[in-house]
Amino acid sequence: MTTVRTRIAPSPTGDPHVGTAYIALFNLCFARQHGGQFILRIEDTDQLRSTRESEQQIYDALRWLGIEWDEGPDVGGPHGPYRQSERGEIYKKYSDELVDKGHAFACFCSAERLDQVRAEQMANKETPRYDGHCMHLEPAEAQRRIAAGESHVIRMKVPSEGVCQVNDMLRGTVEIGWDRMDMQVLMKADGLPTYFLANVVDDHLMGITHVLRGEEWLPSAPKLIKLYEYFGWEQPQLCYMPLLRNPDKSKLSKRKNPTSVTFYERMGFLPQAMLNYLGRMGWSMPDEREKFTLDEMIEHFDINRVSLGGPIFDLEKLSWLNGQWLRELSVDQFAAEVRKWAFNPEYMMQIAPHVQQRVETFSQITPLAGFFFSGALPLDPALFAHKKLDNTQVRQVMQLILWKLEALRQWEKERITACITQVAGQLGLKLRDVMPLMFAAITGQASSVSVLDAMEILGPDLTRFRLRNALELLGGASKKEVKEWEKLLATIA
Ligand code: GLU
Repeated sequence: MTTVRTRIAPSPTGDPHVGTAYIALFNLCFARQHGGQFILRIEDTDQLRSTRESEQQIYDALRWLGIEWDEGPDVGGPHGPYRQSERGEIYKKYSDELVDKGHAFACFCSAERLDQVRAEQMANKETPRYDGHCMHLEPAEAQRRIAAGESHVIRMKVPSEGVCQVNDMLRGTVEIGWDRMDMQVLMKADGLPTYFLANVVDDHLMGITHVLRGEEWLPSAPKLIKLYEYFGWEQPQLCYMPLLRNPDKSKLSKRKNPTSVTFYERMGFLPQAMLNYLGRMGWSMPDEREKFTLDEMIEHFDINRVSLGGPIFDLEKLSWLNGQWLRELSVDQFAAEVRKWAFNPEYMMQIAPHVQQRVETFSQITPLAGFFFSGALPLDPALFAHKKLDNTQVRQVMQLILWKLEALRQWEKERITACITQVAGQLGLKLRDVMPLMFAAITGQASSVSVLDAMEILGPDLTRFRLRNALELLGGASKKEVKEWEKLLATIA
């Protein structure tokens, strides 16, 4: 019998998402329950958006939660490398194989031509897709153009009609029409593979037997299935997990809910409680008990107990569960967990330089800098009353800064300052006009330590969370304002 092998394959392009942790947890449980292995693979073929910082954050977030992998970029293993950016030669070989077998072809179409085809299809109310222009080029002709250095991509052929049957472990057979499938690009002009090729090749070479992934990937399943068929490989079992949702049922998004695992760590949730809550997303213990450990989840795991209605990720529910966990700790454990959270030498060393010069006794530290140990702050609307700006302008500047900071990838004081300066400049304001607003939102006080340092220390999640709370307090942004301000945002370098 083959060993069950599952994997999580995150793209390191942003904050470590709770959705990634959720899918990782279910893959881990499935593998462990079958005595199998769980692998971590980094899908970093998007060179522009992938960063090593983000990759590290994924490791840290999963480990903080107690999710461990048997093979991965940082722990090694017999099927490495486990980082797709280090597997370029492998993808090239398999892409060539598909072209040789006539399942894929080189496409030389320019972006302009593709745009034009798309526009025409849209005008005719057709699904926009590649029109097959280069599919019938003679292979020798294509080879000649490639040898001459002409820019090209490799596309896969797909059937033009009929349906693809996707066998999903949760839904049974799902039929998806081939007329909805595009001739997917497998290799980009820069010689790097797209998700589709790299994912299939790696899952095969890494011996993955079961793929539990988010249901947002279900519509593209036929392309993956076709690729397995073209290669003549056995396809892993597929399982499309329901997506996490905001309490209003929309897809979990950071504009409505904090989605970064790091946020929950900074807020002082226990990792065991967080993992327990993720285990409750669409799944329940046979005896329906709410509180359980990872080991208990593994022991009783049954993929058929996953229900398809979109599980709601609700902060209040999570907080309640966390409270249950906290109360069951011994006092010793509780104190140890609190120390680990924020009363540890590392965090103290970040804060100390900023408070040392401003206090005469230690007892003044909490009134001055207690916000370093808080989550949401009790905010005073009076602190946001501005000499020059009316309420709309205040909300506008705060929203624009929030968006800029949401897009900021390297969380450093200079870069944070640059974001704020750019927004202020675009609105004809000075940095000192907007800093009091930042001060009020981040520290909840009229004076404290340097707010830019505080933002750096608090980290992206808590900073954005507090800015968002302040903005809400002042009335948020209407749909119309969001539209207008987004246009303005686009003009800020
Ligand atoms: N890299 C993809 C992601 O970031 C992996 C999806 C899959 O599991 O196939 O979600």
